Amino acid sequence: MTLHDERAHLDFTSAHLVAHELAHQWFGDLVTSKSWSHSWLHEGFATYFDLLYSEYAEGRDEFHYRLLENRETYFEEHDSKYRRPIVTNVYSQPIDLFDMHLYPGSAARLHMLRMLLGEELWWEVIRRFLERHRDSVVETVDFMRCIEDVTGDSYDWFFDQWFYKPGFPVLECSYQYESKEGIVAVQVKQDQDSGKDLPVFRFPLMVRLLSRNGAARDLTVEVREKEHHFYLPAAEEPHLVLVDPEDAILKRMRWKVDGVKLRVQLQEAENVLKRIEAADELAKVGDREAVAALAQAVHQDPFWGVSARAARALGEVGTEAAKGALIGALAITHPKARRAVVKALGSFKDQAVFRALLPLAAQEPSYFVEAEAVLAAARTKTEGAFEVLKQALERDSFNEVVRCRALEGFGELDDERSLPILLEYARYGHHELIRAQALRTLGKMGQSRPRNREILEKIADTFRPPAGARTLRPKLAAVQALEMLNREEGLPVLRRVAESELDGRLVRSARVAMRKIEVGKDRGESVRKLEKRLDELAEENRKLKDRLDRLEKISTG
Ligand SMILES: [Zn+2]
Repeated sequence: MTLHDERAHLDFTSAHLVAHELAHQWFGDLVTSKSWSHSWLHEGFATYFDLLYSEYAEGRDEFHYRLLENRETYFEEHDSKYRRPIVTNVYSQPIDLFDMHLYPGSAARLHMLRMLLGEELWWEVIRRFLERHRDSVVETVDFMRCIEDVTGDSYDWFFDQWFYKPGFPVLECSYQYESKEGIVAVQVKQDQDSGKDLPVFRFPLMVRLLSRNGAARDLTVEVREKEHHFYLPAAEEPHLVLVDPEDAILKRMRWKVDGVKLRVQLQEAENVLKRIEAADELAKVGDREAVAALAQAVHQDPFWGVSARAARALGEVGTEAAKGALIGALAITHPKARRAVVKALGSFKDQAVFRALLPLAAQEPSYFVEAEAVLAAARTKTEGAFEVLKQALERDSFNEVVRCRALEGFGELDDERSLPILLEYARYGHHELIRAQALRTLGKMGQSRPRNREILEKIADTFRPPAGARTLRPKLAAVQALEMLNREEGLPVLRRVAESELDGRLVRSARVAMRKIEVGKDRGESVRKLEKRLDELAEENRKLKDRLDRLEKISTG
């Protein structure tokens, strides 16, 4: 799946995979984790060293953008599935630990550590760790000792909150300049669920004050409370204020300042992550000036990732002006930025958008833009979208991206005519990625067709022989589809998967799906019980009223 043609190379490289696997020669082969609990010493390092290779080969902007993508992948699992500490011995099968907490989650933590230590000490620690423990087994504490030896400081506080406990800080920050006192007042609030299992975090936080001529002053404050007010002296009002200007801390942050400040930040912040932060916040402002600034960033930002995020922000704004700006940006050169423009347009249910997407959905230099345009055309839910999807099914592409997006698109249209198509593509013999997508879409479409046996049977078919090669993805997709269908009839299939399949990922996802359906079933039963009880109460009520009426008649009669 990593060998690709020149056309795919517009968007895709194997360098990341190769860098990751090469890094394992040190982290995994030269030093080896003593037990599964410390697997981040392999995967966190390999993931971060792949990013470091990006920094070396593709530059800091690309590095920062990939760091952001890693963080967001981890956040997503944390938000939607579960939160766990990076180092833990709570798991039922070792494969359970090989998740998005382990790979991107610990890579993001390593980046924070590098920023805290500084370049020189960081590399010194890495060298010390590899030399001291070469050809032997290690645990997290061995790495901690090396940091202690190199720096002379204990980093227990760091590992305690970032590796042995789950979560990350969710910050809400803002500032005002108080001209009379000549101070910048910065507010920092930790907003994570700290009442439950997430702690209040302790970390150093840098604030950068920039003057109009670009002179920067950095001040570091120590965050350790749920809420802080910091006062920083500044004789003149700063042109730009940035909290965590190098984005060193693993966190999610709302930056609550006005549109004027955000526009300056979008145009002038040096670090791409701070420009992206401004674009994200401007999406919430959404006024005319915000749209203009975002449109300008889509066209003119020197880094494609900022253009892409500005496009996404315009999609979130969702106004006519935002739509116009996105249509006007369909010709931008960078294929990844263009892909984001196309994707953002998919959120407008609109003929004009559909027409603008058509040429890209038919033919595009980039496979990925073409595939995204096919899906976006479907998402507009416009007359004619069905034909676009059918035509896309005729075209070969790298990793079947075009056919897969088309099959996903059928789920957006919810058109009866697509069922036979999906049932065919779910069949054994098609490419595994195609089968997986067809199954997921069937699961989605089955939600609104609760009595369609054909869908359920096709999904169950995935687990019957021939159990040839490359069936894991379709099987995982089939489990997902059963979970989406959320019907009791799916339970026996899932039970069989949980009992007889060998791959731990499959067993685990089947168990999760079963639990979800059973909880739903229980809830359904309690709702039915409550409804019955309500009926009984209504009946009793009626009888009481009858009695009262009769009594009244007796007393008055
Ligand atoms: Zn790996």
